[in-house]
Amino acid sequence: MSEVSRERFVSWFGELAAIGHSEGGWNRLAWSPLEAEARAWFSRTATSIGLEVQQDGAGSLWAVTDDADRGPWVCTGSHLDTQPDGGAYDGALGVVAALEAAASVLESGAGRRHPLAVVAFVDEEGARFRTPTFASLALTGRLNIDHVLEVMGDAPAIYGVTRDSLAQSRRQLDRVRCFYEVHVEQGRSLVDRELALGVADVLAPRQRWRVEFAGEANHAGTTAMLDRRDALLDAARFALAVDEVARARPGAVGTVGRMEISPGSTNSIPGHVAASLDVRALELETVDAMVEELRAGFPGAAFGRESHNEGARFDDRLRAQLFAAAEARGIPAGDLPSYAGHDAGILAGKRPSAMVFVRNPTGASHVATESASEGDCLAAVQVLTDAVCGELAGD
Ligand SMILES: [Zn+2]
Repeated sequence: MSEVSRERFVSWFGELAAIGHSEGGWNRLAWSPLEAEARAWFSRTATSIGLEVQQDGAGSLWAVTDDADRGPWVCTGSHLDTQPDGGAYDGALGVVAALEAAASVLESGAGRRHPLAVVAFVDEEGARFRTPTFASLALTGRLNIDHVLEVMGDAPAIYGVTRDSLAQSRRQLDRVRCFYEVHVEQGRSLVDRELALGVADVLAPRQRWRVEFAGEANHAGTTAMLDRRDALLDAARFALAVDEVARARPGAVGTVGRMEISPGSTNSIPGHVAASLDVRALELETVDAMVEELRAGFPGAAFGRESHNEGARFDDRLRAQLFAAAEARGIPAGDLPSYAGHDAGILAGKRPSAMVFVRNPTGASHVATESASEGDCLAAVQVLTDAVCGELAGD
């Protein structure tokens, strides 16, 4: 058994949290000097425990044990970038947890049949260029390289990432045997269920649509109520319908987060509205059914699908390891679906992957008030360490 060190974890977490911290929150935006500073801290810290740091073609950092060439790596980690004025835990917790797990495994001298790697993925948040899970998409060959280079300009050059290196980045997947990610919960489910940890079972499938409503723009004063065709009224009914359609299905969520109203003038009746639609549920069929119901209810609207994610199932074997480790340590844990994107969710389609969520007393996410207790964080680190130890010794 490898016992994790509270002192070391707390001290590393504090060092990382000091980078990019200001009054409003944490600002380590991807491809920025502050993310670069966090990456330098990561490399120094990993090197100090005997790991060797490599960079892949997408710009992610991999800190590997000295037997890196022996075969595919047992990997754990997360991301160092944050949202603007983001929280201290999102991403950072998973990276520090992985470093601590590696340090305690190496310190214990436990037998290993596979190399161990701690990974710091670049640009998970996608906050600057709308390129979330950049690195894991590159790793799995799903990154639209032309598109990202167009929207990002020369930002990736800060880490020496080029079109050629991006094209090569999917080769790194051959080195990945499996992946574990510790992450702060982004809601209040674990608090409500009195669980310290959640083990992800599914990544909720999601669809995003652009829905357009046509009316007739006209003068807000001279057009009688009877003569109007106000596009915003249909759009408003649509927003209410989205709420109803989601509430009627357990585990489903639906949001209209954006509306563009034309002509967008106080003195004009809205002639055209483009609304966004985001729907997620535990099963793909539920997402499809929600969209179908909305389309049937608004036959006059034009629906265009903008993106979809089929979701993912996390690996049952890795999940069982994590639950066994939690039980052996007396840590209350339960299944927890993830409704947000994560690198582990992208990787789950290609390699056995698992996520451990840590209870977040405020339930807040992507803001400075996001939180986790030291005890819960250490519980996650210990469970991760025990599971990784078992995997390193296995066939
Ligand atoms: Zn995250």
